[in-house]
Amino acid sequence: MDIRELHGNLLAAVSALLAMSIYLVGGTFGMENPLRSFLWTLESINSKLMARCPMHPCYVDQCMYGLAPSDFPDLRYRKPTIVYICNPYNTLGTYHLDLRCHVYKAPGKLPKCGHVHLKCEGRVQLEDGTWIKRSEEAGHYPEALAKAIVRELM
Ligand SMILES: [Zn+2]
Repeated sequence: MDIRELHGNLLAAVSALLAMSIYLVGGTFGMENPLRSFLWTLESINSKLMARCPMHPCYVDQCMYGLAPSDFPDLRYRKPTIVYICNPYNTLGTYHLDLRCHVYKAPGKLPKCGHVHLKCEGRVQLEDGTWIKRSEEAGHYPEALAKAIVRELM
């Protein structure tokens, strides 16, 4: 196991402990990561945290919430994501966060979000002149998603 993998496992285990602590004192929490993340397969998250806390998976394509590259604001990053919500006060068990973008195969037809998707590959230059990875830029929640997550936790 290399140091990055060890660091990732440790971070996941600490996150699971914090989340479980929040739940045990009557709080709510959300846990977000890309749809195909290894996080969801780790024992600390998958079998320990999820076995003890009522966590509901919400499937989100962040383009539906407006996640756009700063250099091409008319395009969108799709960024398939799972947001697990633990809210024991949601007694109805209904969630409104799920929002997936459908990509149509017909030529010239836009995806459901109404925008062409841009892959999170390469780098982008910010207004201040610095360059960052597109994946880093796409790591910032669009405001609409942040607000939707907060609504699910209240
Ligand atoms: Zn889309």
